Amino acid sequence: MKAAVLYELNQPVVVEDIEMEGPKEGEVVVKVAATGVCHSCYHAVTGKISYPLPVVLGDEGAGVVEEVGEGVTLVKPGDHVILSWVPSCGYCIYCTQGYSHLCLKARQSERGCLFDGTTRYKKNGTPIHHYAWVASFAEYTVIPQESAIPIDKEIPLDKAALIGCSVTTGFCAATNTAQVRPGSSVVVFGTGGIGLNAIQGAAVAGAEKVIAVDLLDTKLEMAQQLGATHTINASNLDPIPEIQSLTDGLGVDFAIEAIGVNVTYDQAIRALRPRGKAVWIGVPEREPLSLEPGILAGERMVMTSTYGSARPRDDMPRLLALYRAGVLKLDELISRTYQLEEINEAFDDLLNGEVARGVIQF
Ligand SMILES: [Zn+2]
Ligand SMILES: [Zn+2]
Repeated sequence: MKAAVLYELNQPVVVEDIEMEGPKEGEVVVKVAATGVCHSCYHAVTGKISYPLPVVLGDEGAGVVEEVGEGVTLVKPGDHVILSWVPSCGYCIYCTQGYSHLCLKARQSERGCLFDGTTRYKKNGTPIHHYAWVASFAEYTVIPQESAIPIDKEIPLDKAALIGCSVTTGFCAATNTAQVRPGSSVVVFGTGGIGLNAIQGAAVAGAEKVIAVDLLDTKLEMAQQLGATHTINASNLDPIPEIQSLTDGLGVDFAIEAIGVNVTYDQAIRALRPRGKAVWIGVPEREPLSLEPGILAGERMVMTSTYGSARPRDDMPRLLALYRAGVLKLDELISRTYQLEEINEAFDDLLNGEVARGVIQF
């Protein structure tokens, strides 16, 4: 079967035929219908996220269950599923406390492998790893049944795919991690796939002011379509005084960082009013961040967000219900579709800020 494999850092991804083994106990094979091109996969290309190589990339997909291994009870062949990059076990301390996005069994597993510590892909005898449990840049993927979230067959799979990463990570960072309240003020730094969805989440949660900050006017226009009430192009100015003047000099209730650079981690804190909460979603740099501790005085809070603090099995169907009700915008997010062979071009468009979301369709 055809897959997009990363062999070497900072090199183009290779689209080629690789061998795939059938599912072992508790695993399912999904025929991938569509997969979003997510920045976190590109972080694996540059090494910002370190992953064992070679690896089949792709962390945002949906498809149809083709085959199930022994002992699978959660899905059956023919089911339509979103691929969750956290296969929550249901019984570890985090799952039982309601934080299934932090599932210990998933976190303690060997990176790039399935639960038994091996992979189902290889080429010329060399094992190829699975990216983030999902590995959706491939015609078929083998995943733990816990990563297969069944959905209504009427939902178009290219829209459902987006729920697998960017929508859940961004939207739920606003609704679940930050817990944006009606009438509150929110700033979102970075309007890529994740940031745009954080903006949607804040708007749907009833924020009065949703301020989008980016360096590209084209992306700020997309932000307005998804619910931003104000935009700031920060390419030539410090956005903090602007944010303060939009919030009666107080700063915002919630500041969401969706880029992953120290400059905006710092700005997210400086944008806060007392009791305000900064939520860092972006994949962090490895450089230390220098911080004057007093900047947090007045009970300001900082929290990171993993997968939008979402419980995939609960939140993903809810997000689809919001889509069906016309509240959550998914169609508008897809700016361009690609063939798998065009994956490197899709990464270039992502880096140039030309797309809200690029989606590969099979
Ligand atoms: Zn992603
Ligand atoms: Zn668990």
